[in-house]
Amino acid sequence: MTRVLAEALAEVRQTIQAAALAAHRKADAVSLIAVSKTHGAEAVAEALTAGQRVFGENRVQEAQEKFPALKAAYPDLELHLIGPLQTNKVKQAVALFDVIQTVDRESLAEALAKEMAKTERYPACLIQVNTGEEPQKAGIPPRDALAFIERARTVHKLPIRGLMCIPPVGEEPALHFALLREIAGKAGLSVLSMGMSGDYATAVRFGATHVRVGTAIFGVRDMAAVGAQD
Ligand SMILES: *Cc1c(COP(=O)(O)O)cnc(C)c1O
Repeated sequence: MTRVLAEALAEVRQTIQAAALAAHRKADAVSLIAVSKTHGAEAVAEALTAGQRVFGENRVQEAQEKFPALKAAYPDLELHLIGPLQTNKVKQAVALFDVIQTVDRESLAEALAKEMAKTERYPACLIQVNTGEEPQKAGIPPRDALAFIERARTVHKLPIRGLMCIPPVGEEPALHFALLREIAGKAGLSVLSMGMSGDYATAVRFGATHVRVGTAIFGVRDMAAVGAQD
């Protein structure tokens, strides 16, 4: 079992390296986020043993069940929140996550800023952009992104480091990656979280600094668990 996960991880890292090289980028300019949602703490522990240190979860409660013990054992573990954040979970999220990738509305920016000031813990923040303008998807519409980034930085004084997106299913992801990069460039932001199991090599070619890979590392998720969380 351990060998299978370690091999899958090595393969993903190789793919990132090859894509970075092809784009004349340094492979270490791309951080691999292993998305462990629906997989147990044992699977995360296997990945840690294989040298992986950066993980992504999309639900606060699920992450709280798995990660505090692992973080105690591995102080260099870096945990990213990549799913929607309810305002009533802000306290737990600020306490647990090192990066919050899904800042997507004014009320959330305000709640995060308050909690950070109170606890003096400042997880890096990314703003989620709904590049496909899908009504059912979270994220700021591209046309509003620059104004929102500005408010998040100056009004709320959040540590905004970059942007993330989830391209619409069935569309060419490269167009969305290019759009996200363009907005980040205009805003002077350097972090780009984009690319999942199906398209992370493309994302690296388009400048991703963080790719979020689940299935290609941990295998297919339990569909019942997926249904329960989406
Ligand atoms: C689940 C998830 C991923 C990982 O998806 P895979 O296709 O399994 O690699 C990446 N980003 C977000 C926001 C997710 O929710």
